[in-house]
Formats: sequence, structure tokens, C-alpha cells
Amino acid sequence: MCRNFINKVFYIKFFVFILFSASACSGDNQEIAGLLYSDNKPVSVGISDGRITSVKHIGKLPADIHDIFIAPGFIDNQVNGFAGVSFTFGGGELTPEGVKKATIELWKTGVTTYLPTLTTNSHELLLKNFTLLAGVIDDPDLLGSIPGFHLEGPYISPVDGFRGAHPKIYVRQPDWTEFLELNKAAGNRIIQVTIAPEVEGALDFISKCRSAGIIVALGHHNGDAQSITAAIDQGAAIATHLGNGCANMINRHLNPLWPQLSDDRLMISIIGDGFHLNPEEIRVFYKVKGPEKTIITSDVTSYTALPPGKFVNAEGDSLELTREGMVRYPAQNVLAGSALPLKKGIANVMKVTGCTVEEAVNMATRNPAKLYGWSDRGIIGPGKRADLVLFKIVDNEIVIMRTIVSGKVVYDRNTIIK
Ligand SMILES: [Zn+2]
Repeated sequence: MCRNFINKVFYIKFFVFILFSASACSGDNQEIAGLLYSDNKPVSVGISDGRITSVKHIGKLPADIHDIFIAPGFIDNQVNGFAGVSFTFGGGELTPEGVKKATIELWKTGVTTYLPTLTTNSHELLLKNFTLLAGVIDDPDLLGSIPGFHLEGPYISPVDGFRGAHPKIYVRQPDWTEFLELNKAAGNRIIQVTIAPEVEGALDFISKCRSAGIIVALGHHNGDAQSITAAIDQGAAIATHLGNGCANMINRHLNPLWPQLSDDRLMISIIGDGFHLNPEEIRVFYKVKGPEKTIITSDVTSYTALPPGKFVNAEGDSLELTREGMVRYPAQNVLAGSALPLKKGIANVMKVTGCTVEEAVNMATRNPAKLYGWSDRGIIGPGKRADLVLFKIVDNEIVIMRTIVSGKVVYDRNTIIK
């Protein structure tokens, strides 16, 4: 190629970048173009002071961005850890730097809002980590990416299989006084608790959560139809990672799946990574609950974004991270959370259900935002937070091109953001 041609290409690309892309160095007015995820039509989104100011349909997009979707930033309601950082336990203490590192790495995967998820452990450790998290989540560097926390356990089933990877010695019955201590340490930012409906004291606990405005999820349980219905009557709103946190051998008639699927009041979250559920399970769950009442979650752990290998966790258990991104306990042959980010699950759910980009994205943006009552997240519209993700779909995979949080470009595939 001659030099003139190369120069021309450079200037054209540079012009297109300035005209159609967010400016990486400016937090002021921006116009971002792409295919709107909800109708596949070219759109220009205006941003100012961290908020969306306008959404306008436009003509044809330039060739080099003609296939880039623009969508609300992904919302992940179950993040146990990321990139070597664990919110409950793992190799080393949780630190403010660790929380920032995990957040920055999550941004690279298109997640702009997430709930650090603390799982079953000692009261002292949960108190300590909630205290640390509460002290860091309002740091301006995090751009409001962490509105609150998810406490999964310790009030779950102690029975093997249903308990999953949660350490048995720390599983206990619901204790409202203890929970209030944890929530106080968390700056009253625990917004979801996952519990088992059949354990003693669960219904009273759910009722108190409802009064306090805290979302109750059912998970890691062996509830029968009666206890599940009673829990939903008390206000339980969602089933956590349906189909997981469940023993391998269950009664074909009497098991926790049917009552949770058959009650239209209950939403579900599903781990769409391709390891936690078979395609047939995802299809059935999706057909029953539909795109309005399904949330795609990741259940990612600290092993995400690490190279494959064998690890020993803080409890002394051996874990294996496979090349494909599966985290398992070889000794029990059970999964121990995921190592694949939310975008993987969104793409996989789209692939196995045949749902549209709009439906898949809504299940990871609009639906969780609705559940938690966030009116300014999970949607693209004037006045909403400018949390946006630009992505391509290549061979059934979502390739993140750019992530914008509160109007700031925090990741660009082609540019190193400092
Ligand atoms: Zn779980």
C-alpha cells in the first residue's frame, strides 16, 4: 500500500473516532454512536456530566462501527470475587486496592454495576469484610459501580449437595440480630440476602427483610412446595441460580425446582456460563419464566481472569480451574462458582434459547435494575446514568469494545485508558 493511502485511511479513521466515539479524555459532552440493542437501528447517545442527555436515531453508521451494539452496562448481582480478589475468602486479605482492582477488571468485561457477594463464613470475617467494603464503595474512583451487597448464606441448608461449596461449619439458622450487625457494618447497603426457606426462623426473617426493603432470594435449599410458597407469600422475590445449589439426586416429584418454576411471582437468576446448567435446563427455565422474570448472573469467583491451574483455598480445599473456565472441587466433583464473566452467560443464553439481543441484554440490565428499584440504571434514556457498553457479537461471543461508567470511558479495546 502506498503511503498516501495509509495516511488517508488514518485520517478517515481518526475523524470517525472523533465524530462517533466517546472521547477517552473528556468527561464533558460526548456523542456515542452504535446499533441500539433494543431495535438494531443506528443511534447516537448524548452524554453530559455522567448522565445520558439524548438518544437519537441516525442514518447509516460508518463501516468500521456498523456492527457495534450500544447497550446499558451489564449488571451482575452475584460477584464473589474477580481477578484474584475474593470478597469473602481466598488467598489473602480483602483490601481497598483489591476492590478497585476487581472493579476495573469487571469493567473490561462490560459490567458497570455489581453486587459484591459475601458467602457463608464466620460472623467475624463477614463483619470485617463488610466493614472494609462499606468504607470503599463510595470512593469516587469506583464511579458508583457498587450500589450494595448480596449476602448469600449463612442461613442456608446444611445438607450436602444443597449447601454446595459453602463451608458447613459456618452454616446457621437465620438470626435477625446477627444480620442487623452485619448490615450495620455494611453501612446498611446489604440489598439482597439468599436464604433457605425451610430452615427454622426463615419465614420470620423474610418478613423482617421485606419490611426493611431488602430483597430475599431463595437458594441453597431443599424447600418443599409448602415452605417455598410460604416464603414467597412473605415476600421472597427471586430464586438464586436456579438449578444450582441443589443436590444431584432429588425426588422427581418432590423437589425444590417445580414449586419455584411454577409460581409466577418468583423471578429466577441463572448462571448461563455453559457449565452450571445444560442447554435444555436453560431453555426450560427461560420458557417458563420468560425474558421479564429471568436474570442472568455470573457467580464469578476470584479465579476469574486467572490462568488455569490448581489452587488451595483459605479452607485448605483443593480447587481446579480448567482451561475452559470451570472451577471445581475435584474431591467432591462439584462446581465451586464460575470463572467466566457475565458476558459469557449472556452470549450463551442467547445461543441456546434463540432469544434476541434485546431480551438477553435486558436479563442482565433492566431486570436486575427493576428488582432492586434502580430507576436510573439498566436502561438507555435521557436522565439515566451514562453506564454503557459497546460490543460486537463474533462467533456467538460478546466482544467488549468499550465500557463507559457514569459518563467516563473506563475501557476501550483499542486504546489504553489510564
Ligand atoms: Zn450459590
